Amino acid sequence: MPELPEVATIRAGLTRLIVGEEVSSVEVLWPKSYQSRAPTDQELVGHKVQGIRRFGKLLVIDFDSNISLMAHLRMTGQLIAASPQQADSLALPDRSTRVILTFASGLRLFFNDQRKFGRLVVVPTDRVSSDPFIASLGPDPTDEAFTPAKLTARLASRRTNVKGALLDQHVLAGVGNIYADEALWTAMIHPLTPTDELTGTQIRRLYSAIKSVLTTSIDRGGSTSRNYLSAEGTRGTYLDQACVYGRAGQPCRRCGTQIAKIKVAGRGTHYCPRCQKPPSCHSL
Ligand SMILES: [Zn+2]
Repeated sequence: MPELPEVATIRAGLTRLIVGEEVSSVEVLWPKSYQSRAPTDQELVGHKVQGIRRFGKLLVIDFDSNISLMAHLRMTGQLIAASPQQADSLALPDRSTRVILTFASGLRLFFNDQRKFGRLVVVPTDRVSSDPFIASLGPDPTDEAFTPAKLTARLASRRTNVKGALLDQHVLAGVGNIYADEALWTAMIHPLTPTDELTGTQIRRLYSAIKSVLTTSIDRGGSTSRNYLSAEGTRGTYLDQACVYGRAGQPCRRCGTQIAKIKVAGRGTHYCPRCQKPPSCHSL
């Protein structure tokens, strides 16, 4: 599932590739993948891309004339922009292609989504910020307005374990399973620690860890875990140097202890049993 660094990488790629491009046709190959307020699929035709915004893991492509396309990538969604030659070399469209936007220049934008949970939704631009999904998101950890005090307040709003809280998009926008594990290892916090048992020092360490793992991953083009591709159809390299995610049974990069894997909040969770001390027995 793409998380904040992957979606930020896709946004940067799309900004380079499709801003200024004018839509000449929209082809919907899987009707559920494309939702529109208009009776036809062609309302984007004739409109130019003005910019791309990101809200957590959601991308919003803004067109002129008050039209925006919200892209929920969910589990396996991809947005890949390609010239006819690039599309040939990437073998696009393929069996997972659900929607194709063709631009007047010949460039095409492919929305691929193997599992079909993703959605492209056309909305008026002036209603984007009041969209219920966007309005419910917690702060973005890469935003300058995100502070340790804000993280403290957000964690206090959820009485659960810290891993579950980090996965909750109402607490923080954009962090998912990979970066929650990486941040908790970096901050040396056990994933099952209840949010109300975190000390001020732990929260400050967690704050720095979240920012640093996300920044490192954005610099490396994100993580490639199965289905993620950038807007250019390339893979990210963050997982090559992951500290703990996907490393069950391998030595901790800090102390050499074998990395353990448990289930927390329904997700496979990796941690070092030595560096990340379990919470007190009362809270387990
Ligand atoms: Zn360790």
